[in-house]
This record gives sequence, structure tokens and C-alpha cells, in this order.
Amino acid sequence: MDKRISLIAANWKMHKTIGETVSFIETLQKEVGPCTDREVMIAPPYTALDAARKAMTMEGYKLAAQNFHWEEKGAYTGEISGPMLKDLGCDCVILGHSERRHLFGETDEMIQKKLAAAFKFGLLPILCVGEVLEEREAGRTLEVIGTQLERAVQGLSREESGKIVIAYEPVWAIGTGKTATPGQAQEVHLAIRQHIAALFDKEVANRLRILYGGSVKPDNVDALMAQPDIDGLLVGGASLEVSSFKRIVQYQ
Ligand code: PGA
Repeated sequence: MDKRISLIAANWKMHKTIGETVSFIETLQKEVGPCTDREVMIAPPYTALDAARKAMTMEGYKLAAQNFHWEEKGAYTGEISGPMLKDLGCDCVILGHSERRHLFGETDEMIQKKLAAAFKFGLLPILCVGEVLEEREAGRTLEVIGTQLERAVQGLSREESGKIVIAYEPVWAIGTGKTATPGQAQEVHLAIRQHIAALFDKEVANRLRILYGGSVKPDNVDALMAQPDIDGLLVGGASLEVSSFKRIVQYQ
């Protein structure tokens, strides 16, 4: 099996000015240093992407946008395209975050178009999937995630599918302080890998990096990262302070 390099990702959502972004990245790099055995990804707001790119000078740090539009250009007021993100030096883009799905009405069909566009324009996609509390309580977690996955990867080649990063983010755990237990997360991560193996094949599934997201904090990071199918983390609230994000990046 290929060794999967872990990815610790910060999703800043609608937080931080340009100055705050630069100061965070400079301090983090100074305190953590270059990363060779893991990757660190930061997704600032669009307005700070350019400054973030310039501040990222060390090996192992990647820049992501939190969203984009699948069209290359056109009459789409307020939208940002893949080529524009590439122009800013973005490496990755987060897709289908639950806040995009639930607050801004993103559908599986839109997410599928964004996933295809990410490959077209050379951005690494971080595809978020996750169930809401009622779905978990009704025992429908794996079914819901299976459907989100199948719809998103429709039309992708085998090669592209092996490159996606998937983030499992139970909606009930995002920003609530309620983290999935390492066992709950591992169960879903394994099911995601098996689902991808069934849709494509085992080799693709083994290459796939699956991140966990939802109230990741310095005190639960080590137990989560000890799970065999958890290959990284997508961190919201705890990524806003250098001290807590640094501890998460430096998981044992
Ligand atoms: P949280 O957010 O860490 O604040 O729960 C995670 C996310 O939304 O990606």
C-alpha cells in the first residue's frame, strides 16, 4: 500500500484580514518549520489568498480556497473561477463544505461540477461529505455519505478519483464542540474507502486521503490521528489561533 502523507488543513471560513493572515502564517512557519512528513494547508478568505501565498515560504505548506465556481469565466456576479485561483497561486480548493450545502444551497450536482472543474483547472479538491444528526440517529450515516460520494465523483476518471482528498465532517460535530469519537470517525472513514474501492478499485481507495473534520482540538487530535483510516484533519475553530493549530499540526 502507498504511504499516504497526512494533511492538516485549516478552514478559516469568514475570518481574518490580510494582516492577520500574514502574521499567522509567518508565526506558524517560524514555530513549526518546514514540513516533510506531513502537509499543512491553509484556506483563508479569498481576500487574503494573495498575501497568504506570498507569506508561505517553507516546504510543506499549501494554499487553498474555500470555494469557487465551476465555469471558467462569464456573467456570474460575485463568483471566482478556477483559473483565477490558479492565478493567485492556490494549490487546492475545498468543495461541498456543509455550510455551503446548508446555508448557500449547494447541491450534489453543483459539487460534481466543481469537482470536475477543479481537475480541469489544476486544483486539488478537498471534497466534504457528512450526515446531519437526524440522519445519524436514523442509522442512515453510511447511506447518506455513499450517495454524496457517488454523485460527486460521477464522470471522474480512475486516476482523478485517486487524487481527491475527502473530508468526512459530520454536520452535528462542526462548530458544536461535539467531536465524533475516534471509533465513530474510523468506522465512517473505512466505509468511505470501501465505497471508493467498490466504485473504482482497491488501489485507488488505498491512495485516497480521508480527513476528519468537526470540533478537532488539541486534546483530541492524537487519538483521531491514531486511527488507520484517518489521514488528516480539517480544522475550523481551533485553526484560528496559532498555538492550537500548531499543536494540531504537531500531532503525535
Ligand atoms: P470546526 O469546523 O473545527 O470549527 O468544527 C470544521 C469545519 O467546518 O471544517
